[in-house]
Amino acid sequence: MCSIDALLKGFQRFREKYFQGSDKPYDRLKLAQRPDILVIACSDSRVDPAILFDANPGDLFVVRNVANLVPPYSDHGGALGVCAALEFAICQLEVEHVVVLGHSQCGGIQALATGPDGEFIPQWMYIARDASSDQTSAKALEQSSIRLSLGNLMTFPFVKERVDEAKLAIHGWYFDLDSGELSGYDHQTGVFKAIPR
Ligand SMILES: [Zn+2]
Repeated sequence: MCSIDALLKGFQRFREKYFQGSDKPYDRLKLAQRPDILVIACSDSRVDPAILFDANPGDLFVVRNVANLVPPYSDHGGALGVCAALEFAICQLEVEHVVVLGHSQCGGIQALATGPDGEFIPQWMYIARDASSDQTSAKALEQSSIRLSLGNLMTFPFVKERVDEAKLAIHGWYFDLDSGELSGYDHQTGVFKAIPR
């Protein structure tokens, strides 16, 4: 789909845009990053948050992993990369929003439904085992997994403290690859609703 040569040509276009144009954002960004938003997204090549949200360098602090999972604080399953990124973004960068971004046709979630193969994937997907208890469709399971990660986020003391003080908001979003629609988890009703365009 994309060769190494195409990748390097892409980098040249990036340089022309961000280092040679009239506005040179890296003059500022090289000094520090100050993103307001942490996105926890899937590693899936179709759901890059920066592309989905047409974001600029410096806008988003991003954690990507298989099936956009957040482990629970007390039983993080060795997922130190996720925990360290959460701690850095929330405690040091002091982001104001965390978005757990799930998506349709998620291979990780499909593996959860069918029984994951491999050496590491089963251990990783074990984090989401409780999402699969009574879900009948892939979409329901994908959305249940987002809800689970939102719940797990709140088990981190530094998250709960900031949410309680209204310094941090957590969001669950779901991107549908079929329709191109984005829906958001409504904390009041417990369901996902289309986010108006
Ligand atoms: Zn996925």
